[in-house]
Amino acid sequence: WPTSDPQRDHAQLSRVVRLLTWLTAAIAVATLVMSVLVAPVFGLFAMGLVLLGFVAWIRWAWPQVPERGGAWFVMGVALAVLIVCTLFLVLVPETAFGMTGLALIPVVLGLPYLTGRRMVRLAALAWVVCVVIACLAEVGRTSGMPDWMVPFARVLGVASGAAAILVLLLQHHHRLNESAGELSAVVSMSRDLAQVRDADQIGDRMAHHLALATGADSCTIARWERDADALTTFGSHPPMPGGSRPPGMPLLVAPVARRALTSGDAHAVDLADPDADAADVTWVLGRGHRALLLVPLSLQGEIIGLLELAKDLEPFAPRTLDRARTLATEAAMALENARLYQELRHQAFHDGLTRLSNRALLTDRLEHALARRHRRPGSVSVLFIDVDDFKAINDRLGHPRGDELLREVAARLTRCLRPEDTSARVGGDEFAVLLEDLVDRREAEALAARIVETMREPVLLGDTQVATAVSVGICFSDDAAEDADTLLRDADFAMYRAKANGKGRVEVFRPSMRAGADERLALENALQGAAERGELRLQYQPVVELRSGAVTGIEALVRWQSPSHGWRMPSDFISLAEDTGLIVSIGRWVLGEACRQTRAWQRQLGRDDMWVSVNISGRQFQHQSLAVDIADALSASGLPPASLVIELTESVLMAHTPSTIATLQGLRALGVRVAIDDFGTGYSSLSYLQRFPVDVLKIDRSFVEAASMGADGAALVRAIVDIGAALHLRVVAEGIEREDQVAMLTAFGCEHGQGYLFSEPVNAADAERLLVARRPPWARERASHRRAVNRVTPAPVPQLH
Ligand code: C2E
Ligand code: MG
Ligand code: MG
Repeated sequence: WPTSDPQRDHAQLSRVVRLLTWLTAAIAVATLVMSVLVAPVFGLFAMGLVLLGFVAWIRWAWPQVPERGGAWFVMGVALAVLIVCTLFLVLVPETAFGMTGLALIPVVLGLPYLTGRRMVRLAALAWVVCVVIACLAEVGRTSGMPDWMVPFARVLGVASGAAAILVLLLQHHHRLNESAGELSAVVSMSRDLAQVRDADQIGDRMAHHLALATGADSCTIARWERDADALTTFGSHPPMPGGSRPPGMPLLVAPVARRALTSGDAHAVDLADPDADAADVTWVLGRGHRALLLVPLSLQGEIIGLLELAKDLEPFAPRTLDRARTLATEAAMALENARLYQELRHQAFHDGLTRLSNRALLTDRLEHALARRHRRPGSVSVLFIDVDDFKAINDRLGHPRGDELLREVAARLTRCLRPEDTSARVGGDEFAVLLEDLVDRREAEALAARIVETMREPVLLGDTQVATAVSVGICFSDDAAEDADTLLRDADFAMYRAKANGKGRVEVFRPSMRAGADERLALENALQGAAERGELRLQYQPVVELRSGAVTGIEALVRWQSPSHGWRMPSDFISLAEDTGLIVSIGRWVLGEACRQTRAWQRQLGRDDMWVSVNISGRQFQHQSLAVDIADALSASGLPPASLVIELTESVLMAHTPSTIATLQGLRALGVRVAIDDFGTGYSSLSYLQRFPVDVLKIDRSFVEAASMGADGAALVRAIVDIGAALHLRVVAEGIEREDQVAMLTAFGCEHGQGYLFSEPVNAADAERLLVARRPPWARERASHRRAVNRVTPAPVPQLH
């Protein structure tokens, strides 16, 4: 005591002061009582008053000590009390003993400020002399000390009091000198550090100054990496050759350092110290030092590093540890500043979520790579990667899960790359990779294919398994303009093409894609608000009972009548609407209009049994508002829920299996039916299919077409029809264009179908004509066709084998 923590010192000191003041107050009261009741001596009474005054003063002044500077305060108290003591000793010798007791107070108060054993001893000696003299004076007075001795004893008493105060003053002076030394060391260090531009040099400069201020031969400032249980060097003196940093020192091999860090106390090891720990001595010897000082670097109560000072030949000068402690605060701050600086620099060039580089760093590296290419031929390529349907996942599972997915994509991306490749997150769900020094373009294409493949593995987000995919665009430097931005933009165009061509695939940039991208942007702008402006139309395609040819239901298919882009089919704008989220409002309009029109037909034509199919895309299915939109459409139109069929593709159903079941059950609860559209083109798990509450299975057009080409295709269709039957689903075949397809499907047991053979999608007026016709046009044609076929050979019915 004192320790390196001034706050703790002050609390400790306050406790001592409180004790002493209470003690003094007790003595004062006793003295006053005695002077009145026992020995009516004026001196005693005066002493009691002085003591009380002293207590009051201390109580008043002590709380302000930290502001005034503890040492000055103690000096003041000591001086005041000793002057009073001396005066009383001289004037009223009867109180000599009590007065000397008072002298104890300043000495004790001063003790915490006396460092160095010699000082403490001196103060104690002064006080002892003070007491002895006072005793002698007292004894001399009462026991008839020769008169000539009394003034002598008084002078001695005064001298010893003065000696005590001198000691304190000397000590204080010494402390001031020390502080001035430390201060000038700190000032010259910060002046020098302010000149250093390179942040990496700060550590070494600082170590140099610390060595200088403490007289150490070498100095190391190290950061404590708690996770790695090691120290990493921040600066050293003498500096490492070539400015390199020594690798981290594991704390396993440095027990002294670990002890200093965990205890938070400074640690000194000197080979000449007989009490030194044998293991510590061996360690210090092994490093070629004579003496070592280890000071933990603490900031806001947390140990962040270690300052190591070493002397090779001599021991450290006394009080070096104190000075090292003071300077350690500076080192701790520099260490923390360096960490913050590094973090800021990292933040400026990295993405906080995925820890990948950001666009700024990627562009910078890309520019460097392009500049280097002039000197060293070789292709620079950029892969632009976008997560398919990310917005839908975000909408459905929430942003924290979306973030998780992005982190997983980043991790997988990193696994696919070489350490020298730069991967960056350049937008919400967009990533980019810079590849340099590729010998062959095919390397980049192969890597892109590998990335697409790796991303296909489903991701577990919480307890939901999510099917993921990415679309990748590649652009090579020799195909594009010279600057980084253009290269990135062209790779982006290629990525858009990959999306347009079906997602989950790779496209290489071609200049023609630029025009396509511009057009897409124009289309996107035109599509905004199309539903509100009344530019959307519905066409209807009848679904027919194959045996009788009767229309049982109708599928609503959306069209866009754009003032600027003309008549547009769903293939032109549905995926764009999905990407931009416009699909939700478009889908809402389709649902409302389809329900309204169908209910109108039901009423007008008295056909309450007819139903309507409405297509729902993935993003729409995942949007929370779907159930509400459907319920609104039903209640606004008055359409019975059983007359509405919601068509979902397999991939939509399989994307988030556990939550899909819940959503489907919600739809079922509304009373609507569910169809699996384009069955066979996606990937279905039969076990899930069984658990999904669906009612209708629509065989994709491609199978119907393939079936009429050969026996294998037919077998496949038959298998699908059988699956439908096994799951008790109504099976509808899509894309029927020829009569022989109808024959084959009916032979397999498929009862419903739709296709150009019956009718193309038509507007509401034409659809109404088809619905009212007693004998639809196709029924007449089929009758004549059947007669013609019967005259030739009957078509063989393919068998399943
Ligand atoms: P889909 O649901 O499988 O619809 C059937 C598509 O096949 C329709 O194309 C239809 O015109 C076409 N088709 C029907 N019979 C035949 C045939 O015999 N031969 C041939 N070659 N084609 C036939 P369309 O209208 O271009 O729609 C394409 C896709 O766009 C639809 O496939 C559906 O997935 C989507 N779609 C249409 N309307 C909407 C909508 O309102 N919302 C959503 N989310 N998607 C829609
Ligand atoms: Mg459909
Ligand atoms: Mg379909």
